[in-house]
Amino acid sequence: MSENKIPYKIYLDESEIPSKWYNLRADMKNKPAPLLNPATCQPMTAEELSGVFCEELVQQELDDTTPYIDIPQEIQDFYKMYRPAPLVRAYCLEEALGTPAKIYYKFEGNNTSGSHKLNSAIAQAYYAKKQGLKGVTTETGAGQWGTALSMACAYLGLDCKVFMVKVSYEQKPFRREVMRTYGAQVTPSPSMTTEVGKKILAEHPGTTGSLGCAISEAVEVAVTNPGYRYVLGSVLNQVLLHQSIIGLETKAALDKYGIEPDIIIGCAGGGSNLGGLIAPFMGEKLRGEKDYRIIAVEPASCPSFTRGKFAYDFCDTGMICPLAKMYTLGSGFIPSANHAGGLRFHGMSTTLSQLYHDGYMEATSVEQTEVFEAAEQFARVEGILPAPESSHAIRVAIDEALKCKETGEEKTIVFGLTGTGYFDMVAYQKFNDGEMTDYIPTDEDLAKGLSSLPVVPDQ
Ligand SMILES: *Cc1c(COP(=O)(O)O)cnc(C)c1O
Repeated sequence: MSENKIPYKIYLDESEIPSKWYNLRADMKNKPAPLLNPATCQPMTAEELSGVFCEELVQQELDDTTPYIDIPQEIQDFYKMYRPAPLVRAYCLEEALGTPAKIYYKFEGNNTSGSHKLNSAIAQAYYAKKQGLKGVTTETGAGQWGTALSMACAYLGLDCKVFMVKVSYEQKPFRREVMRTYGAQVTPSPSMTTEVGKKILAEHPGTTGSLGCAISEAVEVAVTNPGYRYVLGSVLNQVLLHQSIIGLETKAALDKYGIEPDIIIGCAGGGSNLGGLIAPFMGEKLRGEKDYRIIAVEPASCPSFTRGKFAYDFCDTGMICPLAKMYTLGSGFIPSANHAGGLRFHGMSTTLSQLYHDGYMEATSVEQTEVFEAAEQFARVEGILPAPESSHAIRVAIDEALKCKETGEEKTIVFGLTGTGYFDMVAYQKFNDGEMTDYIPTDEDLAKGLSSLPVVPDQ
């Protein structure tokens, strides 16, 4: 089909929304390393995991072999309220850049929670409800995950307890109120309501918190309250599985017009949107059918892939969660209070970590001022006010398109636009006032975080 026939937005019909998730692990020769019990250093069994997580989600977490998993009808129905998400051809951005590159973005911000996180929130809430639980506990950093989970729990009639990283709780009162409007109970973390919160506050008085702290608190509440389980918005295999809906829809939309991407770009916090976006493309790459350049973009202030270590580590600061083998900065690493709250986790998905380690994808880090420059440029020409997290991907997409301008190459670039930035106006204000700084941890800062890595025999 000729180039000028490609519309600004490629929509799928409702009937073309995928009815199965794709489990990337099934096509990996080197599977992601198993979660380990921190007490024994043995792989966590389904039984051990089901004390913390819902049973069916545990099955998904441990399933390295089933390529396609049916999306239950109730979840498909919920998806129809805000999906399919459009794949947008960034004609206006291409023109502004004067690039021969063709740029597409998959926009996941078109729901009240404002990000892709709802794709997994509804799935996790559904399985909790199916198991007959009273409610779920979780942490939230920037607030997107907590908002998404609140929406999903309200829809299904489940109780929702959210531990919100203190710096975000204070910086983003509106997100907190959205969560409360959907019926969630929101506690700033670290708090005095849990044993682990009290301990962290004693050791680090005045800390603005971190995702790692909030996870510890949420897990403690889940395991000490009957009828509750813990749910997590990123990092885990099950979350990447649910987010594969992003990539499957993207691929279906591209296939409609016979478009083949050369470069696929996504921001990486815990890796869920990137893992979801690239899933079917990475599957082709792993099976040797196609090749794509895949780029993970992370903040220079929290550079897990680019400066971290591939090792077993705790997922939380309180060291009560299982150990995961991933690119990590150490569970004791507390990043500076940057403005991409959703990218502040010290670790990374085990699946993406393995793929990166095996050379199937690249990673790069960017500083926040250049990220906001890209966000501003994008907002002015494409209209959407992007989330700071998403703007990391925009930055690198623009940079790649500008390289094409120099070489004259007509590359096709696809990036994930994970959400909107309406609740990030404090960050935009800093940028607009010229007060944004670029904090990059020193090697000594990183060495300190990495010195707390647990000793795991024979890894
Ligand atoms: C949470 C979030 C991210 C980062 O999380 P991943 O699990 O790495 O995808 C990126 N963008 C937005 C808008 C988010 O809310």
